[in-house]
Amino acid sequence: MIVILLGPPGAGKGTQAAAISRRLGIPHVSTGDIFRANLSEGTPLGLEAKGYMAMGELVPDDLVVRLVADRLSRPDAAGGALLDGFPRTVGQAEALEDILASRGSKVDVCLLLDVPDADLLARLSGRRVCRRCGSGWHASFSPPPVDLKCPKCGGEIYQRDDDMEETVTSRLAVYRRQTRPLTDWYGAKGSLTVVHGTGTPQDVEKDIEKALSAGGAR
Ligand code: ADP
Ligand code: ZN
Repeated sequence: MIVILLGPPGAGKGTQAAAISRRLGIPHVSTGDIFRANLSEGTPLGLEAKGYMAMGELVPDDLVVRLVADRLSRPDAAGGALLDGFPRTVGQAEALEDILASRGSKVDVCLLLDVPDADLLARLSGRRVCRRCGSGWHASFSPPPVDLKCPKCGGEIYQRDDDMEETVTSRLAVYRRQTRPLTDWYGAKGSLTVVHGTGTPQDVEKDIEKALSAGGAR
């Protein structure tokens, strides 16, 4: 089963993705995480993505599409995947259709995690994440341990470069211009389900569970 998690930066996609992927037993594929891992390892892919990420802009479609095609061809994704942060443009969504069609599959559901614009800036500029496992905290809403050591994996908790305020503003603009049109695109195909992302992570998780079982996915 292929599930897409769509939503603005700061909507809580990473947190929810971990829960959904556990529940459905499909791997969590986050293009942002893959780029960050490549960046910290200094791979050619990481170097290519670096400038775009630092500006809050999208990495070119062809690069991302190749990466996702490769990821989906791995054995652990044979039964499906949860896509977080991909597709982000209509071009990427079209390419995904082709990739999936070539293996006789399709997008089962696109979950839109909806959070009002007004909340996003505060969420993103206070966001802190674990460098190793990606777990998240918020400087004021759910502060990380003072030693900045991740209780789950011992990794370092830090603030992503692109969570600084200037970059956040451009990421939100990029989302509105390039990614939000996908809600209509998946809406027209009948695969869009909207879940409100403003409650506690547990509330949101319950709503997602409901939405997934209503859609026939368990
Ligand atoms: P966000 O918190 O904005 O959802 P991500 O961790 O998903 O952030 O992505 C961080 C950055 O990685 C993006 O701003 C972009 O530069 C790049 N990126 C991630 N996924 C994609 C994609 N599907 N297409 C283009 N660029 C991407
Ligand atoms: Zn961790």
